[in-house]
Amino acid sequence: KHGTTNVIALDDEGNLAVGVSTSGLAMKFPGRVGDSPILGAGIYCSDKAGSACTGTGELAIRLSTTRLVVDRVHRDIDIDKSTEMGILELKQLKEEGVLHIISMDKSGQCAAFTNKDGLYHYYADSSMEDPEKRQSVFLKI
Ligand code: ASP
Repeated sequence: KHGTTNVIALDDEGNLAVGVSTSGLAMKFPGRVGDSPILGAGIYCSDKAGSACTGTGELAIRLSTTRLVVDRVHRDIDIDKSTEMGILELKQLKEEGVLHIISMDKSGQCAAFTNKDGLYHYYADSSMEDPEKRQSVFLKI
């Protein structure tokens, strides 16, 4: 209905893909791009993990959020911790804003963290008839 949409998919051969719709930010300045199409900011994927953001894109641009999440997985930090750190890194910035990060590794482990209470995401695998609504982990920072 509104906002940016993130999708992460894993096929049965272990291939990961990430998609992010174009920025859904309302009332944005003409010409503003946002984090959605910037690889490493709002979207990033490797052969080991994928990650995507919604929220205040400037935060993800300044911190290279999704690139760093995926990089941590490459350094053997699990997907939960890697994604959680993406939110904790917001403390480095003076700017306020909301960030919601979803991630998945090539084994299908998922993580979703946010600094805004009440955000959620959906999970589905081939054994499920319908997607399941899951609460994202809220970190008060
Ligand atoms: N991240 C998007 C942007 O800043 C907005 C959104 O997620 O809805 O452009």
